[in-house]
Amino acid sequence: MKKIITDRPDKIHAETIIVGGGVVGCAIAYELASRGQDVLLVDRSAIAGGTSCAAAGMLAADSEDFAHPLMAKLARQSRQLLHEQQVLMATLSDVEVGLQRHGFLTPFRSYSELSSYKNNRKSALSADEVWWDRSVVQQEAPWLNRDTYGAYYRPYESEILPVHLTKAYAESAQVLGARVMEDIQDIRVQANEHGVQGITTSIGEMRCKHVIIAAGLQSEELMRHVNLSLPVWSVKGEIAAVQFADEHAGYRPDRTVYAEDIYIVPKANGEVWLGATSLPGRTDLNVSVQGVQKLLTAATHWVPGMKEAQFLRAWAGVRPATPDGLPYIGACKSIPGLFAAFGHYRNGILLSAITGRLIAELLAGKSSEELGIEALSPERLNRKGVVQ
Ligand SMILES: Cc1cc2nc3c(=O)[nH]c(=O)nc-3n(C[C@H](O)[C@H](O)[C@H](O)COP(=O)(O)OP(=O)(O)OC[C@H]3O[C@@H](n4cnc5c(N)ncnc54)[C@H](O)[C@@H]3O)c2cc1C
Repeated sequence: MKKIITDRPDKIHAETIIVGGGVVGCAIAYELASRGQDVLLVDRSAIAGGTSCAAAGMLAADSEDFAHPLMAKLARQSRQLLHEQQVLMATLSDVEVGLQRHGFLTPFRSYSELSSYKNNRKSALSADEVWWDRSVVQQEAPWLNRDTYGAYYRPYESEILPVHLTKAYAESAQVLGARVMEDIQDIRVQANEHGVQGITTSIGEMRCKHVIIAAGLQSEELMRHVNLSLPVWSVKGEIAAVQFADEHAGYRPDRTVYAEDIYIVPKANGEVWLGATSLPGRTDLNVSVQGVQKLLTAATHWVPGMKEAQFLRAWAGVRPATPDGLPYIGACKSIPGLFAAFGHYRNGILLSAITGRLIAELLAGKSSEELGIEALSPERLNRKGVVQ
């Protein structure tokens, strides 16, 4: 990070305080700072130290099968916005985000696998996707298993380096005037009957008009301090990285493979990332032999030349999910000035840009109804009686 402020807390106040320096909090800081807002971002550890540092970085707006049409729409808007933002951020920050716009392939072993994929899809196929039969696959993706029956090619999909993106958002926001404080412990929202007053921290109070909770998995606890129950469920995922030596460069995929049992993502740093397992309810960051074995088995099926690659490392992260599968994005109506931006599950990198934009629009006075995002309202589950 370029500069971390060291003002004494009794002197600190800001129009808006964002709690959480993952990709979501940093994207919000960037969007607010680019509108000239007075914004302070605080994190209990370091920028990009949470789930955002575990992600594969796919912007899979077309490949993800979103059950809710609003999510499919926001995902495509967010991918587009992110493509635009990274051009602007390159003028503000030295961090290279490694955006690659090579498109994604979803391959099938057989006709019956393709049929069941079509039957089980929750959302309509996008008009942009192209069907490649076996011969086209062999020509366009010679590194893919030659027995592949066919594949959908989604040309507008892209991917990015997630930690770099998060840091680019934070740095760009700082260049535009935002303040960032890392390593701030014991954060609690302060609110009374009139609404948000600020936050208390291990180093003192900080005053503000708006608090945005963007602390990923830990957001539930921060909300509980002000008697709001916004459940966040943990879904652990393991992921691995490999690298191809120069003599095996022909085996290296040059597009992301987004198959049903694995994704294989060639990254801008030369590595290829293989993800990810899905372990609901788990919060530890251990990587199991079983998990890595599963990833490598699927990866070497789709890209047989992967057997020649060098294994680099494996890691794990915990996705922040919600009971109804939708993120919480919006104002907490029962506490004026308090906003939620968390629960992005497996798409927080993809949805970061649009989340920043939506929060900025809400702060500018637009309502969830005007923005068409009532379905994401933070207190929706209380109203439905899902939460006690
Ligand atoms: C294996 C794996 C692969 C993934 N792949 C993709 C992908 O390809 N594409 C995609 O879009 N998404 C992907 N995701 C999902 C994505 O990583 C998450 O949705 C996203 O990172 C969530 O970002 P966040 O900012 O909400 O949370 P985080 O990144 O967890 O950030 C939260 C921040 O809040 C801070 N914090 C927590 N508690 C407090 C507190 N009490 N006080 C102050 N600060 C606090 C933390 O230190 C942290 O910095 C993947 C996830 C996993 C695990």
